[in-house]
Amino acid sequence: MTTSKGLQHKVVLIDYDPALFSPIGFEQEVLAQAGASWETFQCRTEEDVLEVARDADVIAVQTVRILLTRKVLAQLKRCRCTIRAGAGYDSIDCQAATEYGIMVCNAPTYCTDDVADHAIALMLGSVRHLARLDAATRRGEYARALARPTRRVKGTTLGIIGLGRIGSTVARRVKGWEMTVISYDPYVSQERGEEFGVQMVTLDELLGRADFVSVHCPLTDETYHMLSWDQFARIKPGLILVNTARGPIVHQEPLVEALKDGRVWAAGLDVTEQEPVTLDSPLQELDNVILTPHISANSPEAQHDLYRLVCEISIDVVEGRIPEWVVNPEVLDHLRKSAAT
Ligand code: NAD
Repeated sequence: MTTSKGLQHKVVLIDYDPALFSPIGFEQEVLAQAGASWETFQCRTEEDVLEVARDADVIAVQTVRILLTRKVLAQLKRCRCTIRAGAGYDSIDCQAATEYGIMVCNAPTYCTDDVADHAIALMLGSVRHLARLDAATRRGEYARALARPTRRVKGTTLGIIGLGRIGSTVARRVKGWEMTVISYDPYVSQERGEEFGVQMVTLDELLGRADFVSVHCPLTDETYHMLSWDQFARIKPGLILVNTARGPIVHQEPLVEALKDGRVWAAGLDVTEQEPVTLDSPLQELDNVILTPHISANSPEAQHDLYRLVCEISIDVVEGRIPEWVVNPEVLDHLRKSAAT
């Protein structure tokens, strides 16, 4: 195939959120050197995607709207790789992609530092009541009583759920804060935890001991509503909960109840079960909750790194290499077998 620009391969970005990250501008030139065109779109429906990407070699999607569905993947003619231009890849039907012999890649490293920074901002903002003090001051109130109660972070325990890139970066960041750091991650050994100065524990132990919990695992069938009624019944009273991972990992109804009765003392949420948070959400009524609009990844450095990774992955694919960030490695066997026949 030759694209309209005389190039052999076609890379498309089917959806991006200009309010957060737009392509930088270097993509077209970088990809052209590898014989690939670069086009960007704002697809909203499956039909939109098929219209622009049916014959693409690589399809990237930036937002977390579900656009790369089984129905779409089944109708792609040349696609060898889909890329979630982001870390979480729950917006691509990986199982269907594997069945159709399509690699799924993510770009997991582009915002590790930024999300860790944001999680820490939410932890400190929550314990120091920054949001409600700021709001009161702007209303003209000199409401110093609103600063109480607070507590000293030194000497407390931080529980990290998911000790991967972001979770371990948070652990490294808080070194020197004189906290005890514990973590629940069934896929991380005690020895690996020790490298970050973290003790690995069960989820129950973490919930019973932690003063702060920061969530950094992916959203999977296993982690959906991982913190729900049972878990909120077992937390150490006065917990400060931070979620910068994915909203549905934390069941909102029991969280709201626990925030109302003080079992959860405060929460900092960059992600929620329903995004955007609606005006009638019960979270809106709670002044012990800091809400941010799924923005943890935001920084110009992250934006640059994101599109650099999208180009690197695309170039690997069109030049016949396996990219570094394949999240459905089972597809590689399938591809090797079909190459051999
Ligand atoms: P990562 O893959 O490096 O780490 C995830 C960790 O979670 C791994 O160590 C894994 O073993 C662990 N894990 C998996 N299943 C688990 C379970 N059942 N219980 C406990 N731990 C479990 O990923 P990362 O780069 O650290 O990113 C973590 C998550 O953060 C992503 O999946 C993504 O959803 C989210 N994220 C959010 C934003 C944002 O803007 N808010 C930006 C980037 C990433």
